[in-house]
Amino acid sequence: SWGSLSDKNVYDWSSEDEEPDGRARPVQVLLVKDDHTFELAEAALSRILLAEKVRDREVVAISVAGAFRKGKSFLMDFMLRYMYNHASEDWLGDANEPLTGFSWRGGSERETTGIQIWSEVFLVDKPDGRKVAVLLMDTQGTFDSQSTLRDSATVFALSTMISSMQVYNISQNIQEDDLQHLQLFTEYGRLAMEETFLKPFQSMIFLVRDWSFPYEFPYGQEGGMKFLEKRLKISENQHEELQNVRKHIHSCFTNISCFLMPHPGLKVATNPHFDGRLKEIDGEFTNNLKVLVPWLLSPRNIDVKEINGSKITCRGLVEYFKVRSKRRCS
Ligand code: GDP
Ligand code: MG
Repeated sequence: SWGSLSDKNVYDWSSEDEEPDGRARPVQVLLVKDDHTFELAEAALSRILLAEKVRDREVVAISVAGAFRKGKSFLMDFMLRYMYNHASEDWLGDANEPLTGFSWRGGSERETTGIQIWSEVFLVDKPDGRKVAVLLMDTQGTFDSQSTLRDSATVFALSTMISSMQVYNISQNIQEDDLQHLQLFTEYGRLAMEETFLKPFQSMIFLVRDWSFPYEFPYGQEGGMKFLEKRLKISENQHEELQNVRKHIHSCFTNISCFLMPHPGLKVATNPHFDGRLKEIDGEFTNNLKVLVPWLLSPRNIDVKEINGSKITCRGLVEYFKVRSKRRCS
């Protein structure tokens, strides 16, 4: 029933509902098909989130969303490295170690719109003594035609609803069309808001890649916040739609922030033989990665997913995901 997922060449890992070698890998849990319908891989989702070790733990769900080929999976792999190295001081590891995890090499791969999750859910001790489950999600959209834009906005909306933190990965700048994509998404947000008096979503982080104006707004979170304030400012001469999207973003999220990342260097961007080793990544990028990843994922900073003000477990998240995606399909 998984249609185009049987095309094995699409993924580095088999997408079947088994892990023959027991290794963790990305698993497609939501797929947008060519006819614009959705398919939720309930069995895979349940197998991962209802595992005994995690199902009754409160869940932190971290999603990275945005268009293809903008370095999302590349970033996710560093997030995985941080999780596997238990947030230790030298989590970045050896300078010559190739980067593995989510597939991040573009090339001629077919592009799929949907949501992948990492099959291993991490257990993390918060400083207050609670043990929480951390789920990493990689979300893809195409944003290239009217119909795929609609699909992508839906995937974006769904991943925002089921995550406690949405990282919106964008290239170079926050352009009007990046905000317009959010405009579509906020339609869904509006529906969700009719169901609650609280802000429906938790954290939204605009992550700008290849930022090239560090002299205007410096790399990192502080420069990002100042830049974001400027981009989200509402002014009289803006189109009404753009004024609305700005107002709506503020009313949807409890926390909104922005991080400006430098360009990783030409080897990363253009060399087809580059395998992700740190040695070949610009030092400025690596330095900011050392700030960005702990800022997103450190045990102190991660927030449990809340729905209507209540913290939810992995089990609760599966139910919520099912309800939400069914509503999207109909
Ligand atoms: P995704 O489709 O958004 O998941 O993008 P990938 O992570 O697969 O990366 C696509 C290509 O962009 C790869 O060739 C990466 O080496 C390269 N890449 C990764 N991070 C960056 C970045 O920050 N800037 C640029 N310019 N390229 C990047
Ligand atoms: Mg990717």
